[in-house]
Amino acid sequence: MNIHEYQAKEVLKKYGVAVPAGAVAFTPDEAEKAAQKLQTKLWVVKAQIHAGGRGKAGGVKLAKSLDEVKQLAKEMLGMTLVTHQTGPEGKEVKRVYIEEGSDIANELYLSMVIDRASSRITFMASQEGGMDIEEVAEKTPEKIITIDVDPACGLQPFHTRVLAKGLGIGKELSKDFAKFISGIYTAFVETDASQVEINPLVITKDNKLIALDAKFNFDENALYRHPEIVELRDEDEEDPLELQASKFGLAYIKMDGNIGCMVNGAGLAMSTMDIIKLYGGEPANFLDVGGGANKEKVTEAFKLILSDPNVEGILVNIFGGIMRCDIIAEGVIGAAKEVNLSVPLVVRLAGTNVELGKKMLANSGLDIIPADDLADAADKIVSAVKGKAAA
Ligand code: GDP
Ligand code: MN
Repeated sequence: MNIHEYQAKEVLKKYGVAVPAGAVAFTPDEAEKAAQKLQTKLWVVKAQIHAGGRGKAGGVKLAKSLDEVKQLAKEMLGMTLVTHQTGPEGKEVKRVYIEEGSDIANELYLSMVIDRASSRITFMASQEGGMDIEEVAEKTPEKIITIDVDPACGLQPFHTRVLAKGLGIGKELSKDFAKFISGIYTAFVETDASQVEINPLVITKDNKLIALDAKFNFDENALYRHPEIVELRDEDEEDPLELQASKFGLAYIKMDGNIGCMVNGAGLAMSTMDIIKLYGGEPANFLDVGGGANKEKVTEAFKLILSDPNVEGILVNIFGGIMRCDIIAEGVIGAAKEVNLSVPLVVRLAGTNVELGKKMLANSGLDIIPADDLADAADKIVSAVKGKAAA
């Protein structure tokens, strides 16, 4: 789960990490009031969307007067910001963050992720801050240093020294830097974060270390123990279909193709997508209906798949293990009738009571194309969709 920059900075502040003073605003008037409260002559107006690259897209602007703050907020609120992370459709700005401006001497990069290969928290740092880190990683990977923290020992002073050296932090800032790193590390661990990115981490002209931008990602499997973080969720920023899916306990991720997939089990869902591609098709989604695929869940899943206008055919691939195939067949038939299915539907069932399940599908009076195995199913749905396109 993602949160906004201003929320991320609030979290960091609680852990003693230095961030600029600021306040969020939903209207130009609120923006002006927020700016009034800050003791500064330079303000920054920042669009709050769940995507980076705002600076280059016009979503981060400096203001030298309260009028200018208000004017910039007016321009930003309601605008659709297109950055390299939003996709071409962009994201509508519904909140802005008003911050006291910083006089920047140097922009650095610092992030933490969980490295699955080493099963450790990894720090990444670079003196090439403020820019696209993906580009730095691609063109000059030697300019990024990484360092793993052993979870059994936690953060040690030498980790901080290695990072300080890599970032070129001078002696006079070494204490502040140690506080910064220990704060961000504790925040990461205690909130069950999966990623924290500070880009840029700046050194100001009066030699202060400040997190000028902040991005947090949280492990959704741990959200149950962080109600205060769940409250920061902004549903406006999430894909509406994925949001609806999560409400029904369905794991759904939208893709760009035209073949909707309904599968039980994440591994089976992945292989179903693979085999669709192998047969020349493109999956429209990843969808795992989970172990208890009953009629209600299957109906919701059908509705989700069909609410994607790109879907021209559906492949149901379900293994009846915990759930018997006849129950699944009943669910598929009921759901197909309820949603008035109008695109080709291929169903492959396997497992307990498969013969009974197949018989029920065949006798349902619905135009269901039965398949015997994965390859057969992929072949049939790809041809059905292609045939439809040709017709
Ligand atoms: P992003 O583009 O979405 O990553 O937004 P950032 O918060 O990283 O801001 C982009 C850039 O705006 C930074 O790299 C800075 O160069 C600039 N910027 C942000 N805040 C300030 C500030 O307080 N003062 C100055 N001078 N520049 C700023
Ligand atoms: Mn940034």
